[in-house]
Amino acid sequence: MKEADRPDTSPGPHPVDFVRAAVIEDIQSGRFEGRVHTRFPPEPNGYLHIGHAKAICIDFGIAAEFNGLCNLRFDDTNPTKEDVEYVESIREDIHWLGFDWEDRLFYASDYFEQLYQFAVQLIKAGKAYVCDLSPEEIRRGRGSLTAPGVPSPYRNRPVEENLDLFRRMRDGEFPEASRVLRAKIDMASPNLNLRDPVIYRILHASHHRTGDRWCIYPTYDYAHPLSDSIEGITHSICTLEFENHRPLYDWFLEQLGVFHSRQIEFARLNLTYTVMSKRKLLELVQAGFVSGWDDPRMPTLCGLRRRGYTPEAIKNFCSIIGVTKTNSLTDIALLEHCLRENLNKTSPRAMAVLRPLRVVIDNYPEEQVEQLEAVNNPEDPGMGTRPVPFSRVLYIERDDFREDPPRKYRRLAPGREVRLRYGYFITCTDVVKDPDTGDVLELHCTYDPATRGGAAPDGRKVKGTIHWVSAAHAVECEVRLYDRLFAVEGPSDVPADRDFKDFLNPESLVVLTGCRCEPSLATAAPGARFQFERIGYFCVDPDSTPDVPVFNRTVPLRDSWAKIEKKLATASR
Ligand code: ATP
Ligand code: MG
Repeated sequence: MKEADRPDTSPGPHPVDFVRAAVIEDIQSGRFEGRVHTRFPPEPNGYLHIGHAKAICIDFGIAAEFNGLCNLRFDDTNPTKEDVEYVESIREDIHWLGFDWEDRLFYASDYFEQLYQFAVQLIKAGKAYVCDLSPEEIRRGRGSLTAPGVPSPYRNRPVEENLDLFRRMRDGEFPEASRVLRAKIDMASPNLNLRDPVIYRILHASHHRTGDRWCIYPTYDYAHPLSDSIEGITHSICTLEFENHRPLYDWFLEQLGVFHSRQIEFARLNLTYTVMSKRKLLELVQAGFVSGWDDPRMPTLCGLRRRGYTPEAIKNFCSIIGVTKTNSLTDIALLEHCLRENLNKTSPRAMAVLRPLRVVIDNYPEEQVEQLEAVNNPEDPGMGTRPVPFSRVLYIERDDFREDPPRKYRRLAPGREVRLRYGYFITCTDVVKDPDTGDVLELHCTYDPATRGGAAPDGRKVKGTIHWVSAAHAVECEVRLYDRLFAVEGPSDVPADRDFKDFLNPESLVVLTGCRCEPSLATAAPGARFQFERIGYFCVDPDSTPDVPVFNRTVPLRDSWAKIEKKLATASR
């Protein structure tokens, strides 16, 4: 490749982490003729989660930054756990994040024939053998970190016999788990992965793409490096648990003398207050602890989407956490912070009252309705304004009134005056209570017509501003208040005698009915996002109907991450 055609390695928008440094090094040394070609290799046995988003941002992101390509490859070598449902959701989620594999969608199963031929080649070279030990015997024979492995009695089978048996394994002559093909490497290697690992197993199972064509399936450790090689992948970026597998990755490519991709490992993302293991997520779905993979409390991309997350917030989060070489636990507050930053700029404001309290403005004309002008987004004047109807009977938030206000309470109380957002000053003159229970049923107030727009001509100030909706115009709606799925920071890290499900947050979903929102929201489409003033960010759920709109709380307004940052800044001063 000519100097001028090489990708630009000057620092781009991304800081140079160790993965990018390795890629730059390879471009500069001409190791792959300056080419950068990555892949994202999900196994279609579950839905993608926020951890996968980190991998996707690295794989697709690095390819884009260095003028390279990124393939999507399904690592579908385990037919018993895989399903087309997962294949479809994975494609949808990657596109939603904003990445595209163009015409490079591949499946490891596309290579089954070629992988079989490579195995035959290994057998012929005396580098693989058919082993008749049971899975349990093989496991025991591997030894441990302190004890060397015990060679299989089948280790020195003649090549011809191995070839014959392997062909008959493929032809379906043998029962499941009765034989395997193993690589012949080193039973005394300090790296257990090199102690004659299994590369093919017999599985009489239908595959979602190859049907019943195969009854032997390659292992991940064998299929992955060869799939990378077949596709000409230059940088095979994966998570840290594969670091010890890298010598094996390299071994297959060297023995077969094929194109040699470079494997680079980074630390996987772990987040507080959630779990990321697909097995655990599946368990939550199957046992009904959540409504499905897309339950808005799940860390899955479809769950986050339904919750109201934006792709921009997720990508920005992935960029901020960066790429590191040591495992750690990331505070979920940082993800929420990225979300708020994005939603603050992009979501239109609206007024909704979650726990309505009726307010009658006694001196406001009975039949009168005014259209007050409300700002759609103070962060973005380009988003304009909208009319909000105002009339004699309103709803305010129950929590914005106290009969007996504590010190520093700045909202409504008997005799107090507050500002209605985009409206007038009102003063509470009377409280109507249920004679039996003492519950507050409604408030009576007066308004000052001179304060329209929120300021008094005589310059008098009020301490608080509260939101409201007009009772006659408001739309009744349902609001689902979502919170963190787990009550503890590290649910994956619980004592051995406890189950992670014991630590689910019992208040992770609170459903409120009979809420009221301003009429402009009634026709909002599923997925539309809003900031409900003074409450938080919400989005329209797919369960929503024009009769009963349903809103999911994405996040409350309070930003605990901003608070943490402030504390750190003060502490370091
Ligand atoms: P399993 O735990 O079932 O093996 P997995 O989460 O590793 O599943 P894969 O489908 O194999 O799922 O993952 C696809 C890619 O995403 C892999 O390259 C994997 O390394 C990466 N990945 C998975 N989980 C994370 C995570 N938490 N953080 C970063 N990358 C991840
Ligand atoms: Mg995996």
